[in-house]
Amino acid sequence: MIHPSDHTMRDPELAEFRVEVRAFAAQLSDLLADSEEGIDRSRRILAARFDADLGALDYPIVDGGRDLDSRYVQIFQEEMVNAGAGDSTSSFGIGIDMCLPTIRDHGSAELRERFLRPGLRGDEIWCQLYSEPGAGSDLAGLTTSAHRDGNEWVVTGQKVWTSGASVADLGIILARTNWDVPKHAGISMLVVPMNQSGIEVRPLHQMTGVAHFNEVFLEEARLPAAWLVGTEGDGWRMAVALLSYERSSLGRGGGRQPVPVDRLLDLSRLTSRTRDPLVRQDLARLHSGSQIIQWLSKRPTIHPSILKLWRTRQGRDAAELAARLAFPGSPAWLGDTMGTTEPGRLIEPTADHWSYAICDSRALSLGGGTDEVQKNMLGERALGFPREPSSDRDRPFRFVPRNR
Ligand SMILES: Cc1cc2nc3c(=O)[nH]c(=O)nc-3n(C[C@H](O)[C@H](O)[C@H](O)COP(=O)(O)OP(=O)(O)OC[C@H]3O[C@@H](n4cnc5c(N)ncnc54)[C@H](O)[C@@H]3O)c2cc1C
Repeated sequence: MIHPSDHTMRDPELAEFRVEVRAFAAQLSDLLADSEEGIDRSRRILAARFDADLGALDYPIVDGGRDLDSRYVQIFQEEMVNAGAGDSTSSFGIGIDMCLPTIRDHGSAELRERFLRPGLRGDEIWCQLYSEPGAGSDLAGLTTSAHRDGNEWVVTGQKVWTSGASVADLGIILARTNWDVPKHAGISMLVVPMNQSGIEVRPLHQMTGVAHFNEVFLEEARLPAAWLVGTEGDGWRMAVALLSYERSSLGRGGGRQPVPVDRLLDLSRLTSRTRDPLVRQDLARLHSGSQIIQWLSKRPTIHPSILKLWRTRQGRDAAELAARLAFPGSPAWLGDTMGTTEPGRLIEPTADHWSYAICDSRALSLGGGTDEVQKNMLGERALGFPREPSSDRDRPFRFVPRNR
């Protein structure tokens, strides 16, 4: 149970808003009575939320929103968590937390009209087509290319690690549109429909057994010329804008999170290890870590890499303690017991929760930028250290040596 924040109790308009959200949350249990966890459930919640005028709280009125500030968003999230629907956006998070705010801030009126309402209402699922086999940390080195053909863009290349691509309707993609300028200057951001003959999605299975992400092959994939976010060649600025939404979504507790400390406490009770001094020490350290993460996430001015690094460390340490408690012999398990692979839906762990959590924790240090990259950013942008030496920053990308 999340208790209402003090300032939201004192302000009558905020208190009135909380009553509105509670009334909405009370109707949700009827609506969800016959729905199982997964995309269908999330979709129902999002549609009900949007139709109740609660789906675009901080969006401008012209875009179907209510132009409310972050205090209202916080109240909404608190009440949804208390109603047991706090995870309602999971499969839709890439769209709602990252792609749609970028389109809202930088897209043309046509793009905003076409994409914002259906995305927020849960009618369309998005994926983020950034990383490539040769461009992960060095994202600006991407080689997927796009060119104009009459009223369309035509895109060819390969993306990888694309979360949710197998169920996505739309992808926000970075592609090179000019090879004769330095690498950051020749990129554009486009919106590509995923269900077309020019796109093949191949699921990649992780060590959890689940295919969370995918390879995406684009062979002359097509999209309307107007589906360009920002202007041609300004894609790096758009990319950075979207990544800042990704980081703030992580800061608010979206996406993959460390195993909560109270679950570890339960596990230590279950395995009769509460008197073990080493376990107690680890639990105390993890409790402090989770407090620090909460406090950091309340400081909007802090560099987001600090929070990301803390969360990664917490996730790794929590998983290690879980492994010691749950599997004193070894963290081995048999085969495919951790997930189902039903076609057409994102895959959820169905059994052996602890094995899943332990194996999945390694992803924390990669998704959204690796630990080393976060440290580089802190060094260069927060501490003012000199930039890493680079031989390709100012060269036309066409002349940068690379694997073919
Ligand atoms: C669960 C998960 C979900 C993901 N979802 C998506 C998604 O939806 N869309 C998407 O586009 N991508 C996604 N990714 C990809 C993710 O963004 C990349 O894995 C990440 O940016 C690292 O890129 P890479 O895997 O190519 O590793 P590389 O960049 O090849 O890095 C390999 C190693 O070298 C280190 N390294 C690289 N450069 C430097 C440097 N300059 N200084 C010091 N060390 C360095 C890295 O830290 C790392 O340890 C996802 C990844 C994961 C794990």
